[in-house]
Amino acid sequence: MKRTASIKTRITIWYTTLMLVLMAVVLSLVGGISYRLSIDNIEKDVVVQVSGVNEKLSKRDRGVFFKIENNEEFKNVTVYTDRGEYVAGKYNYDIDRIPFKEGNPRRESVDGKEYIIYDLRTATPPGIPPFWIRGAESVNSSVILGQSMFYVVLILVPIILLLTALGGYYITKKAFMPISDITKTADDIRVKGDVKKRIPLNPEGKEDELFRLSVTLNAMLDNIENLITKEKQFTSDASHELRTPISVVLSQGEYLLEIAETEKERELAQNIVDKANQMSKLVSSLLLLSRIDQNRQKLIKKDVELRVLVDVAVETTKAFAGEKRINVNVKVEENLTVYVDETLMLSVITNLINNAVKYGKESGNVNITAKKEGSAVNIIVKDDGIGISKENLEKIWDRFYRVDDVRNDEYGSNGLGLSMVKSIVELHGGKISVESEIGKGTEFKIVI
Ligand code: ADP
Repeated sequence: MKRTASIKTRITIWYTTLMLVLMAVVLSLVGGISYRLSIDNIEKDVVVQVSGVNEKLSKRDRGVFFKIENNEEFKNVTVYTDRGEYVAGKYNYDIDRIPFKEGNPRRESVDGKEYIIYDLRTATPPGIPPFWIRGAESVNSSVILGQSMFYVVLILVPIILLLTALGGYYITKKAFMPISDITKTADDIRVKGDVKKRIPLNPEGKEDELFRLSVTLNAMLDNIENLITKEKQFTSDASHELRTPISVVLSQGEYLLEIAETEKERELAQNIVDKANQMSKLVSSLLLLSRIDQNRQKLIKKDVELRVLVDVAVETTKAFAGEKRINVNVKVEENLTVYVDETLMLSVITNLINNAVKYGKESGNVNITAKKEGSAVNIIVKDDGIGISKENLEKIWDRFYRVDDVRNDEYGSNGLGLSMVKSIVELHGGKISVESEIGKGTEFKIVI
């Protein structure tokens, strides 16, 4: 599965980016408009000042030249002769150099400095030479103001974005907390098979959708647990009920075998005894599995000498191995003891050896090794038989699973052996694993 960022991260990235774009748009709009407005203001200001001086000059108020310099109202105005010689007003060498041009206020730049310039030629009565009145105001001040605002924004934006991202991430994380709880609970149930697990409910989230989802899922888990409990109880009850009739069939079959007079009668009676034995084995396995499932199986643990346990198991399967002329080799370290339930562990080892012989090749080998590794004990049962294909390797632990139904029937297999072995090993806190190759053989390893 392709790994993508979590929903929390994606939401945070999404609105932080949105916020960034919004801020950029709003700030550039506001910045642009306020810049335009301040330029407009400067232009108006310059026009007003120039018009004021023009008005006074046209009235030929001779004293005006001298007043201009001190008059606040005309602070950005200079008066020149028609030939461009300075007459009065504010003196600025840079501005003096700009050629005169009648018309609207305009932008001029001198040595990197920006000015709004407005030139007006006075309308003087005939005979009197006209003057140039120039209004000039630096744009730099508003640019500088804009720049300093820009720097403030440049520092503020990342701080605001960081706060938004952190705050938003925290809120979404809190809002999504129930989803982590739901995932964790589902995972616990899947991995550990603990159907008693429920999603923890946070009373603070009482009204939200995730709280209601958790409540619904918990109710659904209650139903599933109920069904599983009932199913387990049914298996357990059915097995119990079957025990008595099966033992009656078995004992009466054995009696029939004893009193059989003809070959045919003996064959039929033997068949009854064999099948009743198979059923009895099946019912015992089912009962053991349901006891383990319902946590009712008690372990009577004690220190058991592993060599003795393996020897008993080998002895039990000796006749069967002999039939297939299989060599059973035992290599168990001296004085190796395990703290286990002896009966159950014996059935584990017997089952594995029995399978190794059952699925081993004629005149092949079955090797049983046991050794200490650190604080654990490894028990390995290895054969050189038919092996198990990769796709079946996971399924062999399933109840009633048999790789080859027809062939297994001749051995009275029921497909419960390995699930019982696994349950018993895990009940002891151990682990069982398998490695196998078709045609080469199979190795079961218990670490306990
Ligand atoms: P069964 O009663 O059928 O032997 P088990 O649970 O013991 O049931 O085993 C399940 C299946 O796993 C068997 O049917 C068989 O196909 C396969 N199996 C188990 N042990 C071995 C082995 N040593 N070699 C090959 N196949 C095996």
